[in-house]
Amino acid sequence: MIYLNGAFMPIEEARIPVLDRGFIFGDGVYEVIPVYSRRPFRLPEHLLRLQHSLDGIRLRNPHTDSEWGGLLEQIIARNHSDDQYLYLHVTRGVARRDHAFPKGVSPTVFIMSNPLLPPPAELLTTGATAITAEDNRWLRCDIKGISLLPNVLLRQMAIDVGAMETVLLRSGFMTEGAASNIFVVKKDLLLAPPKNHLMLPGITYDVVLELAKEHGITHEVRAIAEHEVRTADELLLTSSTKEIMPITRLDGRQVGDGRPGIMFSRLYRLYQEYKDKVMRGGAINTL
Ligand code: PMP
Repeated sequence: MIYLNGAFMPIEEARIPVLDRGFIFGDGVYEVIPVYSRRPFRLPEHLLRLQHSLDGIRLRNPHTDSEWGGLLEQIIARNHSDDQYLYLHVTRGVARRDHAFPKGVSPTVFIMSNPLLPPPAELLTTGATAITAEDNRWLRCDIKGISLLPNVLLRQMAIDVGAMETVLLRSGFMTEGAASNIFVVKKDLLLAPPKNHLMLPGITYDVVLELAKEHGITHEVRAIAEHEVRTADELLLTSSTKEIMPITRLDGRQVGDGRPGIMFSRLYRLYQEYKDKVMRGGAINTL
C-alpha cells in the first residue's frame, strides 16, 4: 500500500499526471527512511534533512513533522514486513510545462514502503567491490533531489563491471559514493569527508561519527585526497539501507589486505548495538 496526495491505495492503482513537474523536470526531493520492528530509525533527522532539501529547491513543506510521522506510521502499519524502508517523495506538483515555478499549485506527495532486507552475509564477510569515477554531478549534492541521472549513470558504471558501488572523486578529493557515503581508514584512524555542498549529509554517516566519538575511536573530518583512498587500509560504505559495509576491492586492486578490517568489525557491531538500544528505548526515535 502506498500514499499519494491524501489517499492510501495499492501501488498498482496509483497514477501521476504526465505534467507532474517531477516527471517533466525532476523537480522534487525525496527521503529514504529505514524501519526496524515497525519503528522508523532516526525519523527526526530524516525529516530535518527533508526540510533542508525542500528549502534548497524553494518548495514549502506540505506537512508538519507530526503529520509526516502520522502518514509514515499508517504506511508502516499497512505493509507486511516488520523491517521496511520508506521512500518519501515531494514534487512541485502538476502544471503546464514552464520552467518558472507555478503559482497556486499543491505539491505531489508520495510515500511507499519496501521490505528492508539485511545485506547478504557474504558481502559482510568478503566485502564489496567498488570502482572510482570523476564526480560529474552538480554543486548542490547536499540536496536529496529526485534528479538522479548522474548518480544512475555513475552507479551503472560499477554494475557494468560487476562491482557494487562507484566511489566519486572531484578534483583529486573523495566526495562520496554514487548512492552512499564513504569512510577511509588508515591504521586506527577513521577519516570522513566534511559535510558540504559536494555530498549528501548521510544519516548513517552521522551515526557512525557519533559512535566514533562515543567510543573513543580516533577520527578526523577533513578533505580526503585520492591517494589516501587508494592507499587506505580499509574503506567503509554507509547508507540507510546498507548500514555499514566493507569495500575490499577498488578498481580491481585489493583494499588493505583485501579482507574486512578491524574498524569495520568494530563499527558494524557498535551500529547493531546502537540500533537495538534505540529500537528498544524509543525516546530518541519518536516525534
Ligand atoms: N550519498 C548518496 C548520494 C546517497 O544516495 C545516499 C543514500 N542512498 C547516501 C549518501 C547515504 O545517506 P543515508 O545514510 O542517509 O542513507
